[in-house]
Amino acid sequence: MAVKADRDKCIYCGGCTAVCPVNALTLKETRIECDASKCTDCGLCIKFCPVGALSKVKKE
Ligand code: SF4
Ligand code: SF4
Repeated sequence: MAVKADRDKCIYCGGCTAVCPVNALTLKETRIECDASKCTDCGLCIKFCPVGALSKVKKE
């Protein structure tokens, strides 16, 4: 699974990268990268994000 960050909302605080238990998230200069092979869809980062920028990516 994976999550994505809304670029218009994200303030690049980096908090979600620290809260992810499997280190699936990486803070890049202008985006949050999610490693879909690591993400367990636990939802912790979505709850944590102070600006509500993260959401789950639906798999086809
Ligand atoms: S916690 Fe939210 S605002 Fe902070 S870097 Fe992650 S997605 Fe962006
Ligand atoms: S949903 Fe869980 S495993 Fe996936 S990126 Fe967020 S904190 Fe990490």
